[in-house]
Amino acid sequence: MSTTLSKESTKLGLIGLGLMGSRFLRRLNAEGWNVRGWNRSRDAILPLKKYGLQIEETLSGLVGKSEVLLSSLADDNAVRAVYFGENSVFANVQPQTIILEMSTISPDLSALLHREAAKRGANLLDLAVSGSTPAVEAGTVTLFAGGEPEIFNRCVPVFESIARQWYLMGPATAGIRMKLVVNLLLGIGMEAIAEAVSLGEHLKLDLDLLLDVLPKTAVVAPAFSGKFLKIKNGDYSPQFPLHLMSKDMNLAQSAAHQCKVELPAGRAAAAVLNGALAEKGALDISSIASPASTLAGRHNDNQGNCKPGHIVSPVNATAAA
Ligand code: NAP
Repeated sequence: MSTTLSKESTKLGLIGLGLMGSRFLRRLNAEGWNVRGWNRSRDAILPLKKYGLQIEETLSGLVGKSEVLLSSLADDNAVRAVYFGENSVFANVQPQTIILEMSTISPDLSALLHREAAKRGANLLDLAVSGSTPAVEAGTVTLFAGGEPEIFNRCVPVFESIARQWYLMGPATAGIRMKLVVNLLLGIGMEAIAEAVSLGEHLKLDLDLLLDVLPKTAVVAPAFSGKFLKIKNGDYSPQFPLHLMSKDMNLAQSAAHQCKVELPAGRAAAAVLNGALAEKGALDISSIASPASTLAGRHNDNQGNCKPGHIVSPVNATAAA
């Protein structure tokens, strides 16, 4: 394989065509890369074929034909299923293949992938993605990588096609560790917004106005600006599903536990997200702040006056459930 990856000569293969992977496939294809995709279930594939995207029927076929593999899978279980076993990535990968592992998984599993790739002469980067589906469509995600600088530098042409910025955070697993740091903030931030909306409702503020004004203040991070319109419209179609946010908060808690560090706000936010899984797991994370759920915790009298000490935050509501 040539030193620099190029649209003209490098064959890319994308494993996992869910919310993120399907959009990465479309974006790479639109940017002129020779890219093929594979997905476990067929439901996700049919609409992509309509866009003229190249889909490989088998995982082994995709791995065998690709010089660079990108994978975007749900969680540790999905990654284990795809990388290990009979028709898996590691059963078929060729030496010198570059693997860009973009799923948000545990650092322990990421370390195992690095070791197994190295045994086969393949080059793996953990390449965590910050930014949701609108950012993938716009090519504005942020990438956090862990691995060898030489491999990272060779992949820059791919990064340029999908991301606004990319950082080599350190050796193997540094990218995924950084992702847990970032998503800890995301999870706590979304839960904090849910509480703020709840308080606004209890204080009898005009909810539409509150949802218009809050994202214009300096205290709301850009990652949440699009969420206010979703809450206002009651449109909880998933960009980042709540079950994946919950998974990431649990990964952050496990990582913190391993390093013997306490994350009290993270623990509280994780409890809220985990508590909402059964009802809202498939919905967007913004559903945690839906007025319906915050209204469920309403403890004000009929004149719109809050009873002192009875504002029920989502944290308390979940703990009480
Ligand atoms: P998604 O829509 O749920 O897609 C998950 C993908 O994993 C699908 O292709 C699914 O295949 C596959 N999968 C699940 N279990 C599998 C198994 N046992 N064997 C093989 N394939 C399996 O999730 P997503 O939103 O695209 O997220 C993908 C990854 O990116 C996750 O790790 C997530 O945390 C991370 N991420 C997501 C966002 C976001 O905003 N959505 C942002 C940053 C990072 P099937 O279609 O067959 O189920």
